[in-house]
Amino acid sequence: MPDLEKSEPLTIEKENEIFFGTYARLPLHVTHGEGLYLYTSDGKKYLDMISGIGVNALGYGNERVLHAIQTQSAKFIHTSNLFMIDSQFQLAEKLIQVSGLSKVFFANSGTEAIEAAMKLSRKWASSRSSEKRKIYSLTNSFHGRTYGAVSLTAKPKYHEGFEPLVPETGYIEFNNIEDLENKVSGKTAAVFVEFVQGEGGIFPVSKAFLEKLDELRSQYDFLVVADEIQAGCGRTGKFFSYMNYDFAPDIVTVAKPLGGGLPLAAIIGNEKVATVLTKGSHGTTFGGNPVACAAGLALIEEIEEKGLLENSLKIGAYLKSQFDELKAKYSQIEEVRQIGLMIGISVKGESSPYVQKALQKGVILNATSGNVIRLLPPLTTTEQEAQLVVAVLDEIFAEENAAG
Ligand SMILES: *Cc1c(COP(=O)(O)O)cnc(C)c1O
Repeated sequence: MPDLEKSEPLTIEKENEIFFGTYARLPLHVTHGEGLYLYTSDGKKYLDMISGIGVNALGYGNERVLHAIQTQSAKFIHTSNLFMIDSQFQLAEKLIQVSGLSKVFFANSGTEAIEAAMKLSRKWASSRSSEKRKIYSLTNSFHGRTYGAVSLTAKPKYHEGFEPLVPETGYIEFNNIEDLENKVSGKTAAVFVEFVQGEGGIFPVSKAFLEKLDELRSQYDFLVVADEIQAGCGRTGKFFSYMNYDFAPDIVTVAKPLGGGLPLAAIIGNEKVATVLTKGSHGTTFGGNPVACAAGLALIEEIEEKGLLENSLKIGAYLKSQFDELKAKYSQIEEVRQIGLMIGISVKGESSPYVQKALQKGVILNATSGNVIRLLPPLTTTEQEAQLVVAVLDEIFAEENAAG
């Protein structure tokens, strides 16, 4: 058996040698996590404010999730979708209950959920008209990296060298009602929306844009897909971020935190699309892994029993007020955007130097969209932990000003 405990310290040089160059990893060799903290092989500890990019909604080592994983693993880890599986049925029913929608399909990753939603949209539309094929997303969005999902991800840097992309996809300018009216038509199959753009820098979609989208959906009969992969499962203080608005999506995509840290994704659809996917029309070997579903159930139970929606609202509001105070103090901060525990701080210039300095001071933040410091803290974050982050950022801006 390989002895992982005794492995040599890992280096970025080794990383460069053995991996394709897809990730800009931090030079941290992590050994374990506990609560909100990550520990490294050099004996340091870091407050993790990015939660494994929005996955670890309960921090590290949640007892209920661990117990669910252990119990299910002992029964079976995998059997396939040839069988009926307790944890899958229970989690599907839970997702239907919290969303009020009708049907569930399980996949393994966010991008796969997007693919499933795209295929479902095309199939639904094809039964209405052979001309109804176009799938739109919004500019500055992020939907994933497989061909369909990257075609909907409106960032040229993710497309370079990979063209041609999936045909009959296109972009509507974020929150631009005129562009929306100009683009959608009877030929539109679906519009994909992140109600709060995550990777894009924490930008909520406007109410006016959604009202128009709703009106045009009635007029032209297309589907609206809510991409809840990052904003879902309680992060915005509602179970799904679309619930912050008076808007009913036809399909919801869920992933990142859904499997309590294990790879799990789902699409949930309403009655309109309930019968579109037929036997053999879509599927995946690992979709709805029994252990991941058991962990997902534990996650949702924990959110409900520990009042974590309320905690997201409370800690989110606290961080917003504290960061607004920093904004009043430091001209480097341009804007603080916050909805629950999705927080973006726009700075003048690049945000990555701030993220690097925070790391040196023991806090893990994330730089996104060039000038945004992004925080996706666990839903279990306490006020003391939030205070620590504020103090560290305060110190970094003050030091920068002192240095001139
Ligand atoms: C991360 C993300 C995806 C892609 O999920 P993967 O699991 O990385 O494939 C899609 N949409 C949104 C909004 C995301 O944040």
